[in-house]
Amino acid sequence: MTVKTSLVDPFGRTVDYLRLSVTDRCNLRCVYCMAEDMTFLPRAQLLTLEELRDTAAAFVDLGVRKIRLTGGEPLIRRDILKLVEVVASLPGLDELTMTSNGVLLPKMAQPLKDAGLARLNISIDSLRAERFKSLTRIGGLAQVLAGIRAAADAGFAKVKLNAVILAGFNDDEVLDLARFAVDRGLDISFIEEMPLGEISSHSRNSTQVSSAQIRQQLASEFTLLDSAESTGGPSRYLQVAHSPSKIGFISPMTNNFCDTCNRVRLTAQGRLLLCLGNEHSVDLRAVLRRYPGDIERLKRHIIFAIEKKPERHYFDPDRTDIVRFMNMTGG
Ligand code: SAM
Ligand code: SF4
Repeated sequence: MTVKTSLVDPFGRTVDYLRLSVTDRCNLRCVYCMAEDMTFLPRAQLLTLEELRDTAAAFVDLGVRKIRLTGGEPLIRRDILKLVEVVASLPGLDELTMTSNGVLLPKMAQPLKDAGLARLNISIDSLRAERFKSLTRIGGLAQVLAGIRAAADAGFAKVKLNAVILAGFNDDEVLDLARFAVDRGLDISFIEEMPLGEISSHSRNSTQVSSAQIRQQLASEFTLLDSAESTGGPSRYLQVAHSPSKIGFISPMTNNFCDTCNRVRLTAQGRLLLCLGNEHSVDLRAVLRRYPGDIERLKRHIIFAIEKKPERHYFDPDRTDIVRFMNMTGG
């Protein structure tokens, strides 16, 4: 009989949250996330639906309670609905969520809900069509706005917006974005840009905006009250007074919350990343392909990997220590 354990790293942190990147490809090219001319992985290198399901099953067996599907853009994977269905139905998993850029949500929101997805985060960095186009290099604001409406209509427990704020690009839209969320009863998180991947569109140290600066802007219009909500990791949520909405601050650059980190990430080609800000990883695809379906063996490799989880990251906007881009990492 299998002995269930939980995943506890050498610093006493319990890992109960997995972010699963299902593709490195995307239908947008956000300037802070990707270089303009990206080379994507050949399809044969991506984990198959069965490999993703077995990996998710192994983690859930080891005590993981929440899984987020991400990428790249998870909705461009053709078998995404099937994947949602098989992962959502794993016994022991409390919640399956997804982060999406929203472009394909007008058609996909309801099928995702029906397949068992519990919550959705949708990224939107600007409400101005031209600016949205230059930030994403492709555009499609109208589809994203329709996608947000479709997600709200589909009846997800929670729809949360994410916005990365960059000085000189969209730091004058903090209040507009917050108003947009609050008017619709949605939550919104503001994210500090991380130095992941070498980009040429801007120098990351000139675009940094701290969560404290964002909070200061918000204070001119909103009363933000402390909230008990925590997801582990580098985020903090505040309740907007007289509203169901919460505003989150994801502050990997200015506020180190590594001591409460509860998550690991699997890249689209099956590398288990133990920390967003460190390159150390363990190749789970090699195990999956050598011993297909051997979940007990996979679990042993995962337990071994968690022993290597680093204590913390050391991000510096002046340096790109981490060469992988966010679309590889699974944000
Ligand atoms: N394509 C989906 C999306 O955009 O929501 C999911 C993947 S994306 C990599 C996940 C999140 O990471 C998005 O909210 C995106 O804005 C954020 N992100 C990407 N690159 C980042 C960076 N260098 N620093 C901080 N956040 C980043
Ligand atoms: Fe694509 Fe998301 Fe990266 Fe934008 S942030 S390029 S939508 S993966």
